[in-house]
Amino acid sequence: MLFKNAIDSVTHLFFPHICAACGSDIISQQQLLCLTCTEKLPLTNYHAYPDNPVEKTFWGRIPLIYASSYLYFSKDSIVQQLMHQFKYKGNQDIGTYFGKKMGAAFQTATRLQKPDFLVPLPLHPSREKKRGYNQAGILCDGMSEAMNVPVLRQAVTRKTHTETQTHKNRASRWQNMDGRFWIGDPSILENKHVMLVDDVITTGATLEACGQELLKAKGLLLSIATLAYTSV
Ligand SMILES: [Zn+2]
Repeated sequence: MLFKNAIDSVTHLFFPHICAACGSDIISQQQLLCLTCTEKLPLTNYHAYPDNPVEKTFWGRIPLIYASSYLYFSKDSIVQQLMHQFKYKGNQDIGTYFGKKMGAAFQTATRLQKPDFLVPLPLHPSREKKRGYNQAGILCDGMSEAMNVPVLRQAVTRKTHTETQTHKNRASRWQNMDGRFWIGDPSILENKHVMLVDDVITTGATLEACGQELLKAKGLLLSIATLAYTSV
């Protein structure tokens, strides 16, 4: 152990390992967040509560078995900082870490029926190519490990810009594009309980559009999970 600590210290000198939220270097090589930030995480505990605000967001819009978000999102918070690192700075470890946390939280909620599949909300293909990964997919991988539920990546796809109608004006075209999801082969989804996963929920419009497409599969049961929740 002493030897290991010595190695950690030496490694730290050459490869500073810092807290993903606040940048503090008082953190061991194995940790993602410092103790202060870990304690400050604004947990919703929504998985424990039926009729929580995320579920209410979808009332009258799409039928859900349940829905939950792990953290509250607010501006200038550590959650915003984490989301920024995760989505725009290539820090995929954040997604794996919180995916595992989300999965573990679902495991503790006995009221929640375990899904058959985790499905990441697809990014626009061009954006995924630019970023190199789909953040929802990374979250799914972490959740899958904690929940022992497989990830279905190709269940639903998102149509590209060029596939949308070109004669519409720019604003309506963008709006339109958000709704462009497509399930290629519904048979794999029939009579399955699918948990649709995304990084953050605000209005829920994109999740609703994707959920509507998934619900075209016969007998499909839908749940929704996001890492962060922000009220509008
Ligand atoms: Zn910190």
